[in-house]
Amino acid sequence: MSEKSPAAAGRIAFLGLGHMGEPMAVNLIKAGFDVVGFDVVPAAMDAAAKAGVPCAASAIEAATGAHIVLTMFPSGDILLDAYRGVGAPGLLESAEPNTLFLDCSTIDVAQAREAAALALAAGHRSADAPVSGGVVGAEAGTLTFMIGAEEEDLGHITPLLEVMGKKLVHCGGHGAGQAAKICNNMLLGISMIGAAEAFVLGEKLGLSHQALFDVISTASGQCWSVTTNCPVPGPVPTSPANRDYVPGFAGALMAKDLGLALNAVENAGVAAELGPMAAQIYRKFADEGGAGRDFSGIITEIRDRSGS
Ligand code: NAD
Repeated sequence: MSEKSPAAAGRIAFLGLGHMGEPMAVNLIKAGFDVVGFDVVPAAMDAAAKAGVPCAASAIEAATGAHIVLTMFPSGDILLDAYRGVGAPGLLESAEPNTLFLDCSTIDVAQAREAAALALAAGHRSADAPVSGGVVGAEAGTLTFMIGAEEEDLGHITPLLEVMGKKLVHCGGHGAGQAAKICNNMLLGISMIGAAEAFVLGEKLGLSHQALFDVISTASGQCWSVTTNCPVPGPVPTSPANRDYVPGFAGALMAKDLGLALNAVENAGVAAELGPMAAQIYRKFADEGGAGRDFSGIITEIRDRSGS
């Protein structure tokens, strides 16, 4: 049996079969991995079962006998509760010794480190591997994984991650994957606000969107927020601006990730100004109707405030 064969990974408990988790689990099954899923929401389990994911009656049942417990949850609080158990034994107590706990959710860096420490103290192994690429990337198996893990655990998780993603970056030890993810997304939030402000200023100064795009995309202001996810319709036909800001990357998720970045900035004592400001701007955007719109829709809010 080759190190890379699905059978070498052993059974995988896949917990959290939501927008991202379900297609990721389906891709593992299609590649021949032995997966047992569970979600607390019956409708999510029904949908996953219909898509071909065998499901257990509880998280503990799914984790029993699993070699890897993969989680794809909304938050770190939920992860820590599931690991510890609330009023009943949790996953860490129920799993076989030396199980690899692989968390792919996007959570607080401090909570990721706490989760890893709890797993190790309970006699298990741990890795964090948050993703970027969204539901489209989860379905296509083209996610980017940012990995925080010990070298000796990489061989065990790489075959699975290679099925679900196309780019894997080992960022360091426990928590390093989450740290890299929120640093990137803090910069993304800031750069999108900057791009949107530049286009609104251009509009006020009488520039066409195309002219400004042609300059920025080949000059020093060049960035993903302009060249790939351009906040105005026209210059980049595939950007969400061309379909009334249907995500893409939803405002609610940007607000969540910037909230995590803000926690990390405060905990680390970084004298950041733009990151916390971006967190505030996207929180307001999400609360005031932008939660389900692409985050580049922030430009409409800037236009409103500019009387455009
Ligand atoms: P989601 O809410 O659709 O899915 C999360 C699932 O976890 C839900 O179905 C929920 O019922 C389930 N769940 C909650 N508690 C559970 C428990 N104790 N046991 C079992 N299942 C439980 O969220 P999503 O969009 O799939 O995102 C999952 C994670 O991936 C989040 O951390 C998110 O920030 C991150 N992420 C999402 C995207 C995206 O585009 N959706 C992109 C990158 C990263």
